[in-house]
Amino acid sequence: MHANLVYRQDEPDWRMEMHPDLSHRYVAVASGLGSFGWSGNVGIEGYGTAILLGTVVTSAELEPGTPIPEEESFCKRCKICAASCAGGMFSKNRETSVTLGGRTFTFAARHAFAICDFVCGGFTGLHKSGKWSTWSPGRYRIPEEKNDIYTELFRAIANYGRWPERVDGASGYYNPAVPEKKVYLTCGTCQIICWGSEEDTRENHRLLTSSGCVLQREDGSLEVLPAEEANAEFAGLGPAHRALYE
Ligand code: SF4
Ligand code: SF4
Repeated sequence: MHANLVYRQDEPDWRMEMHPDLSHRYVAVASGLGSFGWSGNVGIEGYGTAILLGTVVTSAELEPGTPIPEEESFCKRCKICAASCAGGMFSKNRETSVTLGGRTFTFAARHAFAICDFVCGGFTGLHKSGKWSTWSPGRYRIPEEKNDIYTELFRAIANYGRWPERVDGASGYYNPAVPEKKVYLTCGTCQIICWGSEEDTRENHRLLTSSGCVLQREDGSLEVLPAEEANAEFAGLGPAHRALYE
């Protein structure tokens, strides 16, 4: 089964909520293949959450697995995953939960899924500190209130339609939400940052937050510059071009 881009269409706002017809994460946790990390991504001891899952539906008679006991989880609650989200998606302390097969699992409460649409969708990428970014050249401030996030996201999507075409050969794909222009996913950081060893994960976070910020030039090329240089360069772009990113 596809790992993404297949969503149930039985809710009026399914394009925003994006509930899948089958959650690979829930299957993996319920069967004991992996367990939830603080980010809600599924991880495995020794690998963290930098893994990809797929699911096969079969009529084969297989022995069901059992969930991994909490004390044996790979996740040490270091919360580096939360600190690595440019959009601030995850609560540092509040939890949410899901009950699967009579057992309740907890992980970080998310402020609003629209934040991930905004950042992972590639429409913005600058962390609120202004010191690092994802691969998106967008520089929007993400509002606190959920409804305001959607308003700002729709404004960003309209501007995104006028961004120059990228010239780096990245493949991108067409998403039903923005059918007229290719979308380039620019995040996934909360998943790929966690390598199953706190030392490695901390180093990944250091690299992420010290590698500068991305800008897009009028010819469509992307450039990575140290944060202060990127801020100065951005301020010096033509006003019409600059307005497409903030
Ligand atoms: S980064 Fe830390 S808190 Fe987040 S999933 Fe990995 S081990 Fe858990
Ligand atoms: S994919 Fe990126 S934007 Fe989405 S929750 Fe993870 S870190 Fe945040």
